Amino acid sequence: MTDLTACSDCGELHALDELELVFKRPDAIAALSAAERQARCRENEDLCAIWGDSDDTHRYFVRGLLPLKVIARPLDYCVGVWMEVSRAVFDRIYELWDSESQLDEPPLEGRLANEIPTRPGTLGLHGQIQLTGPTTRPDFMVSDTASPLFADQQHGVTEHQAAEFLKSIARRSD
Ligand SMILES: [Zn+2]
Repeated sequence: MTDLTACSDCGELHALDELELVFKRPDAIAALSAAERQARCRENEDLCAIWGDSDDTHRYFVRGLLPLKVIARPLDYCVGVWMEVSRAVFDRIYELWDSESQLDEPPLEGRLANEIPTRPGTLGLHGQIQLTGPTTRPDFMVSDTASPLFADQQHGVTEHQAAEFLKSIARRSD
C-alpha cells in the first residue's frame, strides 16, 4: 500500500511508485507510418533499428532508464527512454547482452531519442549509457550540462515535478 501525502506544491496526492513513465519507442519510429515501420524497422522492447537507403543511414536505438533522484524519497524515479547510438555502440551492447561483464564496460555514448514534453529540447541531448547487467536495462546519464534534464539528474526533482513528467506522457500516449 502506497503511503500518500498531499503534495506541498499543488495539494494533490502523488503516488509515483504506482506509475512508470515509459516511452515505448524512439520518437523517430513512433513518427513513421505503419507501412514504413513494417518495411524499415526491426524492433523489440529493448533494441530498435531503422533501415536507411544505404549502410550509413541505418539508425540504431537502445532502451534504458533515466534515473532522477526525487528529493525526500529513498528511491530514484526512472523515466524509460531510448538512446540513439552508433552502429559500433549498438554492436557492443548486443555482444554484451547476456554477459555479466557488462558491469566492467566503460560508459558508452548516445543521444536521447525522445522528447520529454515537460523538458523541451531533450531529443538529441548527448548522454552516457552505463550497462547494469544482463537482466536490467542500462542507465542513461545526460552529459549536456546546459540542459534542464542535466540539472534534474544532478540535483534531483521534487515529487511534484516527477508527477508532472508522468502526466505529460500519459496525455501523449492517449
Ligand atoms: Zn504536486
